[in-house]
Amino acid sequence: MKNIVLFGPPGAGKGTQAVLLKDKYNLVHISTGDVFRFNIKNETELGKLAKSYIDNGDLVPDEVTIDMLKAEVNSNPDAEGFIFDGFPRTESQAISLDAFLNEKNESINGMVALEVPEDLLVERILNRGKTSGRADDQDVEKIKNRFQEYETKTSILKEYYQNQNKYFGIDGVGSIEEITSRLEKVFDNL
Ligand code: ADP
Repeated sequence: MKNIVLFGPPGAGKGTQAVLLKDKYNLVHISTGDVFRFNIKNETELGKLAKSYIDNGDLVPDEVTIDMLKAEVNSNPDAEGFIFDGFPRTESQAISLDAFLNEKNESINGMVALEVPEDLLVERILNRGKTSGRADDQDVEKIKNRFQEYETKTSILKEYYQNQNKYFGIDGVGSIEEITSRLEKVFDNL
């Protein structure tokens, strides 16, 4: 199986690229943000629990997120591999993911990270906010809080995967097509 963590700060373009890459490599795309938003829209128990965190730009608690991720993986028993988009976002999530895959005799092939400077990220998120309807995309304070969460809890995952020789950084500035082809060069070898 090809199991890839697509990584990067909020607004880096993970979702856009994952949708293009999943078809080419025949992988199942799991976006934790999309799953949460689906549950919020449908007012499920999970959605009610996650809503206040997400609206404020905070991370949803690990236990809730990890359980959800496992359920998503388990509901795709025939998958040839996964693109994890928005997961893991904390070290504890990364450790759980490794253990969970290990039980299935699987592992992460690589973390592919989109590297984009912060001023461009804010611009992209505010632009997306005009059409996405996402409360967390429309308010500069909430966006700053998401970066703060990223800096304190998520960015250390670069080191986590570097220590396993699984980190691949990609320049995330350019046209969508340019970035897709940079990603493909890495995906081809994973
Ligand atoms: P972006 O990467 O643009 O911030 P996402 O759609 O990936 O947006 O995530 C939106 C929100 O969903 C996050 O700000 C967070 O509140 C919640 N979320 C998504 N994935 C996770 C995760 N792995 N752990 C905790 N919270 C998460």
